[in-house]
Amino acid sequence: MPPDAIGIYLHIPFCAAICNYCNFNRGLHDDGLRRRYVDALVTDIRRSAEPAVAADTIFFGGGTPSLLDPSEVERLVTACRESFDLAPDSEITLEANPESASAATLDGYFAAGVNRLSFGVQSFRDEELKRLGRLHSAAAARDAVRLARQAGFDNLSLDLMLWLPGQRPADWLESVDALIEVEPDHASLYLLEIYPNAPIKDEMARAGWSVAPDDDAAEMYLEGLARLDRAGFEQYEISNVARPRTRRARHNLKYWQEGQWLGFGCGAHSTYRGERWRTISSTTDYVGRIGEGAEVTVDRRALGAEERLEEALFMGLRLADGLDLESLRLRHSVDIWTQYGRDLERYVGAGLLVHEPGRRLALTRAGMLLANDVMTVFIGRPVR
Ligand code: SF4
Repeated sequence: MPPDAIGIYLHIPFCAAICNYCNFNRGLHDDGLRRRYVDALVTDIRRSAEPAVAADTIFFGGGTPSLLDPSEVERLVTACRESFDLAPDSEITLEANPESASAATLDGYFAAGVNRLSFGVQSFRDEELKRLGRLHSAAAARDAVRLARQAGFDNLSLDLMLWLPGQRPADWLESVDALIEVEPDHASLYLLEIYPNAPIKDEMARAGWSVAPDDDAAEMYLEGLARLDRAGFEQYEISNVARPRTRRARHNLKYWQEGQWLGFGCGAHSTYRGERWRTISSTTDYVGRIGEGAEVTVDRRALGAEERLEEALFMGLRLADGLDLESLRLRHSVDIWTQYGRDLERYVGAGLLVHEPGRRLALTRAGMLLANDVMTVFIGRPVR
């Protein structure tokens, strides 16, 4: 069943430098604009206040939220606490880049109420980090983890990227081993997706770098996960592993389990009370409009029954626990196996899906590699 409490997402669109593969909503950091932006965010949160609505996660995403001063993080957490019924044990995550993580800043974030850090490490090989245009080194990533532990954080997540230009399977596994060595509580393994006009494409052409063939990428994914299994992590989603049970990302689970969330800040998306909308993308327009007391949300629409079901299937199947068939029947009045079973049968036969009749439908690890193929079964099929 979906979680009852909502999540709160705060978008921080500033970066110290722009990475050559990045397609997120972000821009170069500017001190003055950042201050005005935080003021606007606080105003936006307060004017959307619903003090009776329970919330139990806050996620500072970006961009680079670790460019915020701890006093700004504190103001934002307080605004959320005073505007919603924030649970005392809420998960409060801040995405941080290793190079902006000093001892004083991390201590300040901890004191401000942040209890989970997600470090964008991407690789533990300096050569790869340079290739991606990242500002930190592997040593800086290790230091950041050490400083975070010293500051009191007992919930640390590290991101690694797989399928980098010029990355060989052994290179990838070197990063996985290094990650295991620093003992995080959670890790996300992302496939680098290179969008059509990404600057990294020119550099790849100049330097003659290519990405590993598909078979190697599959092997990298599987062997990386096997090493994480042996180190005691539990894979709970296609790209995510955690210390068993207690360290799953509660905020992200809302996206995968039909939860609700409110997004604040430029480009943030919200899904709440059967509706979905987004906030305007431009940082300066966002600041300006909030200052005028004007609306900043666009594309507001009600989610139809079929769209909600399709999304529940796409997102839920990403989880290692898979789809809870009884819960789907109750929420969406549909028997998934009656509806899609004929098309899904061949994936069960091929060892890509596990079906426990009336209970569960889940991808196997081999199935996770071909998740997009399996999920095509759910696309655009009217529910009978
Ligand atoms: S730090 Fe993150 S958000 Fe900023 S440019 Fe690099 S990848 Fe994009």
